Amino acid sequence: MSVLVVGSAALDSVKTPLGEVTDALGGSAIFFSAAASFFAPVRLVAVVGNDFPLQDLEFLKARGVDVRGLEVADGKTFRWSGVYHLDMNNRDTLSTELNVFESFKPKLPPEYRDTPFVFLANIHPELQLEVLNQVNNPRLVMLDTMNLWIDIELPALKKVLAKTDGVILNDQEARQLTGESNLILAARGVCKMGPKMVVVKKGEHGAFMISGDDFFAVPAYPLELLFDPTGAGDSFAGGLVGYIASCNEFTPAVMRRAMVCGSVVASFAVEKFSVDRLRDLTREEIESRYARFREITGF
Ligand code: AMP
Repeated sequence: MSVLVVGSAALDSVKTPLGEVTDALGGSAIFFSAAASFFAPVRLVAVVGNDFPLQDLEFLKARGVDVRGLEVADGKTFRWSGVYHLDMNNRDTLSTELNVFESFKPKLPPEYRDTPFVFLANIHPELQLEVLNQVNNPRLVMLDTMNLWIDIELPALKKVLAKTDGVILNDQEARQLTGESNLILAARGVCKMGPKMVVVKKGEHGAFMISGDDFFAVPAYPLELLFDPTGAGDSFAGGLVGYIASCNEFTPAVMRRAMVCGSVVASFAVEKFSVDRLRDLTREEIESRYARFREITGF
């Protein structure tokens, strides 16, 4: 089953203790597509400027990502830059240049409107609502957001949350959204806003999920060399939603395996800058790390 993603396409400049890159391929929709495409066909909606190196998307097309929804607008591509320090769980945003992203109005090609799985990556909640108005009865709608929208667009965010089946947040966002310091209570508080499934990511400490009556926790893969955490969250979401779409069912067992698939793909994404590791990643490597997860969590 296909997955629709609407989010950012960016040129990222990132500095970590291990190096730096300038204007590298990034953005939530790009990381998500690169990850989800290992599991299901992906349909991408985003905007770039006419300075964007479209040839960099060839690897996505080769993996079945439909880019007919990528708009090339007159102007410069969205640029984000950030720096990570020794504790790579936290980053400082150095600059955000919205450029063509500022006037982005997602328009779904008619062929995308019946996509059964929808991922609303981190964009303005009003735009997320506009996307939902353009899809016909999706089977699953999942959402990501960020602290900025919790701060300045809470009513719109609550409106879109009420229309989603699942949400993926990091620990700080879950606390900020609910005012609860205890993360389990925070996740339950988010469930009360609408979604049946809430995933809370905790960086190098893994992630947990509350889905209906089920609770499941997964560690982060014990990586010894973390190169660049940018896009880990979107890659996690891509693995998770892509896997659910490949199964086309929502049993607790599928949801749990989806959490592991998200963790596996995210663990690869951080091994190189930008989408470089997801570009050369193979299905066999995913399967082998999936098996390793079974070993490290079994007792
Ligand atoms: P993650 O590390 O998973 O949170 O996502 C990082 C990606 O989010 C980067 O590639 C950025 O280009 C993108 N990004 C950063 N800020 C924003 C924003 N305000 N809106 C949309 N995308 C953003």
